[in-house]
This record gives sequence, structure tokens and C-alpha cells, in this order.
Amino acid sequence: MLLKAGVDISRLRPEIRKKLSILVDAFEGLEEVELTITSTFEGTHSAGSLHYAHLAIDIRSGDNGYVTVNTLKEGLGPDYDVVWEGDHIHIEYDPKPVLSPPKNGVSYLSRLE
Ligand SMILES: [Zn+2]
Repeated sequence: MLLKAGVDISRLRPEIRKKLSILVDAFEGLEEVELTITSTFEGTHSAGSLHYAHLAIDIRSGDNGYVTVNTLKEGLGPDYDVVWEGDHIHIEYDPKPVLSPPKNGVSYLSRLE
């Protein structure tokens, strides 16, 4: 795994950090290049981006970008978003709310752990 100059992964939250080896493995099987993290919290991201919560990373995409995105999605599971951004791949930990079974006609939103 490579880090672009100036990228600091020390503040990444465990939800992302513990998945780095999965990313490295998936990338090795798909791409000609080594996994390279190009951004964590530094750089410019949209307001409210999970980058600033240390829950998102950007990685350099290889020639196989589209397939890689889908494979990474499968490897990481539903709590993670993997987005093809055209010139890089954005990955974030973003568990989706789930609806509880209705009780007295009311469903509650909760988050997957
Ligand atoms: Zn990003």
C-alpha cells in the first residue's frame, strides 16, 4: 500500500482502518498498480464529507476502475459506499438506516452496526 505525499492515515477511524487489508488484497487481484491512498481528511472535500470525520478515503484507480469498484463494494459490504469519481475511487463508512418492523403502525429508523 502506498500513500500519496502528504496523506496521513493515522487518524482514520477503525471502521475504515480495519478494511485496508481487504482493499489491498482486492486491488492486487484486479489492478496492475499497487493500492495508493490519495486522500484522507486533508485536501478539499464537500462540506459535511465523511473525509472530515476520518471515515473516508480516496484511492487511485487503475485501468480496471469499474470492475474494481464493484469488487470493493462486495468485499466491504453494505455499510460502506464505494463511488467511482472519474479519476479516483471514494470509499466511506456510511451504515444505512434500517426500518424496524412496524409496532402499532410505527416503524423506527435505526442504524446497522
Ligand atoms: Zn473522497
